[in-house]
Amino acid sequence: MNAVNTSAQSRFHSVEAATENNAVQEQVIAVFRGPHQPATDIAAKVQALETLLTQAAQEFDSISLASSLAAEDNVLFDVIARLKLNIRVFSLNTGRLHQQTLDVAPALQAKYGQTVQWFEPKADAVETYVNTKGADAFYDSTALRKECCGIRKVEPLARALQGAKAWVTGQRQAQAATRATLPVREFDADRGIEKFNPLADWSEADVWTYVRQFDVPVNKLHFEGFPSIGCEPCTRAITIGEDIRAGRWWWEDPTSKECGLHNANLKK
Ligand code: SF4
Repeated sequence: MNAVNTSAQSRFHSVEAATENNAVQEQVIAVFRGPHQPATDIAAKVQALETLLTQAAQEFDSISLASSLAAEDNVLFDVIARLKLNIRVFSLNTGRLHQQTLDVAPALQAKYGQTVQWFEPKADAVETYVNTKGADAFYDSTALRKECCGIRKVEPLARALQGAKAWVTGQRQAQAATRATLPVREFDADRGIEKFNPLADWSEADVWTYVRQFDVPVNKLHFEGFPSIGCEPCTRAITIGEDIRAGRWWWEDPTSKECGLHNANLKK
């Protein structure tokens, strides 16, 4: 780990300890985004978020939140649980997640009494990939990386969304070049269902202000330099000044980095 990361990590350990005294937002933003960026009218954004999710749950009798258990998804989980919305929450256990990510689900259940439903890849597909290409073949080419994501993420997502009329994600415009024009609501033509991105226009500061105000459980890796978290071998900590998703598939072209769950972002 280089000097910048070491510095960031030690500051994040301070952040973790500071969570209880409501200082988490300022310090997280300070590390990832440079000077403090105040959350933009967070009360209005929370109200708009609650209204959007409430209306979505009323409009669609089968609607799911696809949660990666990141801070954004946990904000959405908090709204769903607080307002008792009829929105199912599921997550994809790719088999390559960090333990810290797996630990978020029981933390959410302990706070809200609501479970996260897990979906896993098909064992025979994983076995074939590992035996014929190698367990970490995703480093060798984008095609092999997409094949792994297809087996471990895209296919389980399709199964998780079977019968759903709409789904919800925690994506934000500011996260990556591929998400710059992300709408709050869109039609997911690949799956033929409606898709909501309620945090599309939320900033990093907005998310962490919400986390602080509502005491939302978060992945501990966020405090170790990981603003965006995917599978363990495909995610690294970022350094100060880097793009929020710079640590995801860091060896690939940043304008085409999506795992196949949100292909419409690339078409835009
Ligand atoms: S993020 Fe990496 S390990 Fe996870 S499914 Fe994609 S290629 Fe495979």
